[in-house]
Amino acid sequence: MKPVLALVGRPNVGKSTLFNRLTKSRDAIVADYAGLTRDRHYGQGKQGKHEYIVIDTGGFEPDASSGIYKEMAKQTQQAVAEADVVIFVVDGRAGLSAQDHDIAKYLRKIGKPCLLVANKAEGMREGIQLSEFYELGLGEVLAISAAHGQGIRGLVDLALEPLHLPEDPEESEVDASVIKLAVAGRPNVGKSTLINTWLGEERLVAFDMPGTTRDAISVPFERQGQKFELVDTAGLRRKGKVFEAIEKFSVVKTLQAIESANVVLLLLDAEQGVTDQDAHIAGFALESGRAMVLAVNKWDAVDDYQRQLVQRSIETRLPFLSFANMHFISAKKRQGLGPVWNSIVKAHKSAMCKMSTPILTRLLLEAVQFQSPQRGGMFRPKLRYAHQGGMNPPVIVIHGNSLEHVTESYKRFLEGRFRKAFDLSGTPLRIEMKTST
Ligand code: GDP
Ligand code: GDP
Repeated sequence: MKPVLALVGRPNVGKSTLFNRLTKSRDAIVADYAGLTRDRHYGQGKQGKHEYIVIDTGGFEPDASSGIYKEMAKQTQQAVAEADVVIFVVDGRAGLSAQDHDIAKYLRKIGKPCLLVANKAEGMREGIQLSEFYELGLGEVLAISAAHGQGIRGLVDLALEPLHLPEDPEESEVDASVIKLAVAGRPNVGKSTLINTWLGEERLVAFDMPGTTRDAISVPFERQGQKFELVDTAGLRRKGKVFEAIEKFSVVKTLQAIESANVVLLLLDAEQGVTDQDAHIAGFALESGRAMVLAVNKWDAVDDYQRQLVQRSIETRLPFLSFANMHFISAKKRQGLGPVWNSIVKAHKSAMCKMSTPILTRLLLEAVQFQSPQRGGMFRPKLRYAHQGGMNPPVIVIHGNSLEHVTESYKRFLEGRFRKAFDLSGTPLRIEMKTST
């Protein structure tokens, strides 16, 4: 599982600037999808081979007793509790404030691994100006400049170091025979109802996996000869044989469930349409490269007018999910559930698709012959051959010359051709260009 770093600190110290640095898009192709909205507070990043999740907790007032501040404090505390490492950001220029002391006191009490970071330290003489921060009793102070990108690499190294990550966590785990499925969605969309309906069907054989803790939910089961594993699904608790929704919705758990799944079933609520939170979860899953299936639940509870509204809101708010199959279901009335399974299996098959170099290259050259890429200034991109660079999501690496001039729309054109040829519905597809020099 990817480690979670939580950014904590009073307002204006530079947390969002640091967040942006840490989550700089690692994939320009994904970043350009129309309509993709990133959550300002939850993102992912990568340094070298190590990937991580970052949470920006917003301004934190540990002693807030009411209103929005209390709610923020609650959310921050939850994020801190669920994070692997806390990055406590202070303002290296403004110096210590009473609020910093309060936050430090709270963090010392929690006893989580914690890094103290003095931001805005560009051009400062570290030793002298930062000595006061040692007062916080959190050990070493790391001087960085989020705005200028100084000290960020060292910060990430330090944050990830104690977690002893395996060199290549992703690839070692791919077992194509079991579909790891995450059912994601906001509180109340019907996740537990759906899972209980499924697991209640006699065809599904659920069994306990030894060694799982009370809180961790991971249910292996089989359906029509296909093995599945339902990965820890946020916002649910197991009570005996059934699942029930828990009050405290955990964004961290949602993100981690998405990360550890091959296929994400994103549940929407027909009564609500697409909300910001739905769009953020969908965006996160897309950036993670997960295969996806959309299901709009509570279809029984809405009239034709609302149905049309929902369909339109999906088109306008989630256009980047056009590759995913969509279903309209009622978990409660057990309507429309069979086709969802088929789409999950199909999405997984697409995500694990194997594409040979000769076939990819032939498709590439045919596409170029059908429509050649535009000239970029003096250069006309020359696309020579293609090979597969990864699975879940499939990555197609194209080699040639002057490929930096290939336009986004041409990449989309190629994507469409590859998708069609390999029947890749249900999975994102990444196309990378490698110019030889
Ligand atoms: P947040 O409220 O903690 O999320 O802080 P922001 O990221 O919004 O930053 C607050 C202000 O500090 C903004 O005006 C930033 O441009 C500025 N800032 C952020 N990082 C740095 C830095 O490394 N150096 C300097 N000089 N200013 C910074
Ligand atoms: P969770 O928080 O995502 O696990 O959501 P729950 O499964 O607890 O469902 C929230 C509420 O929605 C409950 O009152 C369910 O009875 C109701 N619900 C779930 N599925 C359906 C459905 O298909 N149709 C209708 N009308 N209500 C549903």
